[in-house]
Amino acid sequence: MKRLSDIGTIKEILSRHGFNFSKGLGQNFLINPSVCPRMAELSGADEGVGVIEIGPGIGVLTQELCALADKVVAIEIDKRLIPVLSETLDEFDNIKVINDDVMNLDLNKLIEDEFKGMRVVVCANLPYYITSPVIMKLLEDKLPVENITVMVQKEAAQRICAEVGTRDSGAVTVAVNFYSKPEMLFGVSAGSFMPAPKVDSAVMRLNVYKEPLFKLEDSKIFFKVVKAAFSQRRKTVLNSISSSLGLEKSTVNKLLTESGVNPQARAEKLSMDDFYEIARRVSL
Ligand code: SAM
Repeated sequence: MKRLSDIGTIKEILSRHGFNFSKGLGQNFLINPSVCPRMAELSGADEGVGVIEIGPGIGVLTQELCALADKVVAIEIDKRLIPVLSETLDEFDNIKVINDDVMNLDLNKLIEDEFKGMRVVVCANLPYYITSPVIMKLLEDKLPVENITVMVQKEAAQRICAEVGTRDSGAVTVAVNFYSKPEMLFGVSAGSFMPAPKVDSAVMRLNVYKEPLFKLEDSKIFFKVVKAAFSQRRKTVLNSISSSLGLEKSTVNKLLTESGVNPQARAEKLSMDDFYEIARRVSL
């Protein structure tokens, strides 16, 4: 197996294919040899497991996943990398590369078609320009996956893995906790990539619940309330919810009081149950 974390090897392969990095597509390739084996193992890639990878790049993580899992489906948007991947993954017969934008794919159908009878996980070094949309798509599509093990910017990982109800939490923390239990795994320095990004990264695992945390007739309302509550972080939930959702203050005041939430509290102080109680009562 060619060591794809080796700078010389990467340069040789990429120059032979006339490839240059696209900043717009978040192309920072891993060159730290210890990261991918660790990520692959912590994702649970193993016998009987199928893996979805988003953005394989030249295949450095893909190789590790293929060595452990029954099957890997890697989704890469950049068509220039497809011939590179055919070369670097040549020795594996359990890989399928799809040349598409992950945001355009029906991943439930993909799982049904590609991973019959297998447990499924997601493992990826995500392109940072679409971290949150990709994570929210994976969760909102309610995919039958056990976990989503991803590398993202360190700040994004810290926000997502923060405890709900603490200062470090945000709308994305609450949204992710609705579907999963996030867990910070390990940090990765900026120097572990080529080209090196300006910020450090971290690997986290979202342990996906079989059923979302709360049963709501319309879960969209829950997310609207969360977004509204965090829309003006420094203001009280009373003010941010009423101004963001265009509701009378008196209505919101009553709603919050009935939900057992102090209208003068800030969103970051609210618990998952608080958001649920508000969402249950609000009619939009
Ligand atoms: N997995 C490789 C590694 O760790 O070295 C590359 C990771 S790089 C941070 C992100 C990869 O995602 C790039 O290969 C990029 O072309 C790809 N990508 C960017 N946007 C994408 C999208 N919307 N759908 C699928 N792949 C995408």
